[in-house]
Amino acid sequence: MCGTENQAATNGTTKHLSSPSSSTDVVLNLDHGDPTVYESYWKRIGEKCTVVIKGSELMSYISDVRKPCWFLEEKFESVIKRLHRLTGNAVVDDRYVVVGTGSTQLFQALLYAITTTDASLGGTGGGPDQLPVPVVCAAPYYSQYAEETDYLRSGLYKWAGDAYAFDKDGPYIEVVTSPNNPDGTTREAVVIHNGDQGKVLYDMAYYWPQYTPITRPADHDIMYFTFSKSTGHAGSRIGWALVKDEAIARKMTKFIELSSIGVSKDSQIRAAKIMEVICEDYQDFKHHQNSNHFFEYARKLMENRWKRLREVVARSNVFSLPKYSQEYCLFHGECTESYPAFAWLKCKEEGVEDCEKLLQEYKILGRGGKRFGSDPSYARVSILSREEVFQQFLERLEIIKGNTN
Ligand code: PMP
Repeated sequence: MCGTENQAATNGTTKHLSSPSSSTDVVLNLDHGDPTVYESYWKRIGEKCTVVIKGSELMSYISDVRKPCWFLEEKFESVIKRLHRLTGNAVVDDRYVVVGTGSTQLFQALLYAITTTDASLGGTGGGPDQLPVPVVCAAPYYSQYAEETDYLRSGLYKWAGDAYAFDKDGPYIEVVTSPNNPDGTTREAVVIHNGDQGKVLYDMAYYWPQYTPITRPADHDIMYFTFSKSTGHAGSRIGWALVKDEAIARKMTKFIELSSIGVSKDSQIRAAKIMEVICEDYQDFKHHQNSNHFFEYARKLMENRWKRLREVVARSNVFSLPKYSQEYCLFHGECTESYPAFAWLKCKEEGVEDCEKLLQEYKILGRGGKRFGSDPSYARVSILSREEVFQQFLERLEIIKGNTN
């Protein structure tokens, strides 16, 4: 965990800004994208998603040894394919599915799978003397990539920062996050390929109809998704990768075997149940626009939050937000805008260089631009909190006025 309550200690106010409303206000921790926004939906759904697991069930490590990912539950695999077909956000045919403890584990499994040269695991070329493969992503990039890549000081790969600044020959890995965390933009790879020595990983955590128009089924060789951001069940720690190459699927499985001997079956079964309930609700396509269906409900919620946020920011002479163009969404059947999971706030006030610090003075905990390989005049703030927290965030943002007022 990166941000702590202590970090948000108020340390006086900047001269030209109005003071925080009250020193007794609680800290609003919007540093993480904890998706509690969807709790309201799942409360309404009630018992329909309840899963009962008997003491005698799901005891084995193994699910199906014939599959490259031998700990993948059949029910989970079939329902994620069903969900992708429903939303139209990814091609699932002729792909291997690898389940992970969140997409965090899958990212690391992929780095290992792509760079390991162990021939017994399907590796090609290279030897013990190979140099660590650089891992890059266009800035602003998801801050955890840098930390996760270098945390164990692997000899196989190393973080090399902003993909726009990468100009080395030889093998490399580029991560493309689309829509992007932190700024919500739709992205493609940016490194000019030197031969076919680069591998591109598509982190599609936010390619779901509540956040962005679904313009086509993603059809990349390596892409991964997460239960955390699709339905909001971050606590189950489930993610999945769709990969074309069997050798990569097997090496990812090896990594997960060595780090956790598989992935919780209880979680896979819970995830399968929840995603199945979503799919069943859409069975009757006459009701596609029904706001009781998860993706309609979630999109309305996100749209409403962005509308309120934009109104506050429009009145502010301190902050600005990115603009997103409308595109036709194949899922909703209409033109929609993006409603990202995070606000990428820019502090445009002259003389205020540190947006994170400014927010902290008002007890709003966000994450500063520098962590994303960007400018400190930016900060990322989560839009996925519970309603009371989001409302308080708007109220605090409203009182931050520049000295020109
Ligand atoms: N990738 C991106 C772009 C994310 O924003 C997140 C979560 N913040 C993750 C990966 C990790 O998600 P998970 O909960 O599946 O580990």
